[in-house]
Amino acid sequence: MNKGKIYVISGPSGVGKGTIVKALTAAYDDIRVSVSATTRSPREGEINGESYFFLTREEFEQTAANDGFIEHAEYCGNCYGTPKKPVYDMLENGIDVILEIEVQGGVQVMDKFPEAKGIFILPPSMKSLEKRLRGRQSETEEAIMRRLETARYELSQIGKYDYFVVNGPLEQAVADVADIIIKNRD
Ligand code: 5GP
Repeated sequence: MNKGKIYVISGPSGVGKGTIVKALTAAYDDIRVSVSATTRSPREGEINGESYFFLTREEFEQTAANDGFIEHAEYCGNCYGTPKKPVYDMLENGIDVILEIEVQGGVQVMDKFPEAKGIFILPPSMKSLEKRLRGRQSETEEAIMRRLETARYELSQIGKYDYFVVNGPLEQAVADVADIIIKNRD
C-alpha cells in the first residue's frame, strides 16, 4: 500500500478553509483532516476532540516539550499545534492527511516533509473576507481587526505554497482541491 501524503491548507482566518475541508473529507474516505490542539476557548458548537483538542497552556507546553507535535505556532495570542501520532498513523494506512493550519506552521511542515504539498486558499476579495469574519459574530471588534491584520500578513506568504485556490463557489473550490490531491497520487 502506498503511504498517504500531507497537504497543508492555509489561508487567512475566515476564508472558508474549514468548509472546503469538511466537504472534501465527506466526499473522500481516503482523505482526512488532522484534529489540532489549541489553547483558545471553544466557540459555540465546537466539540472537544472533534473541532480541536482544547488544552490549557500548561498542557499544550507539556505536549510540545514531549515532542508531541509535528508543528506548533502562536496565532493571535493562542497556541495551535498538530498532534504527531494520529497523523503518522493515518499516513501509514495510506490516508492523505490535510493539515488546516496557519502559515508559520505550514512552512514548518513543508520544511520538515519535502513531499508535503501546500495549498493556499484565497478569498474572492478582502471585503468578502471581512464580511465573513464579522458574520461569525463570535469575536470582539478588536479580535476581528487583529485577524484582518494577520490576514494581510498571511496573504503575503502565498509564494511559499505550491498551489492556490480561490474560494468562490464552494463546489468549485472543493473540486479544485480534490483535483490537486488526486493528481499527486502515484
Ligand atoms: P481558529 O481560531 O479560527 O480556529 O484558527 C486560527 C488559525 O489557526 C487558522 O488559520 C487555523 O487554520 C490555524 N490552526 C488551526 N490548527 C492549527 C495547528 O494545529 N497548527 C497551526 N500552526 N495552526 C493551526
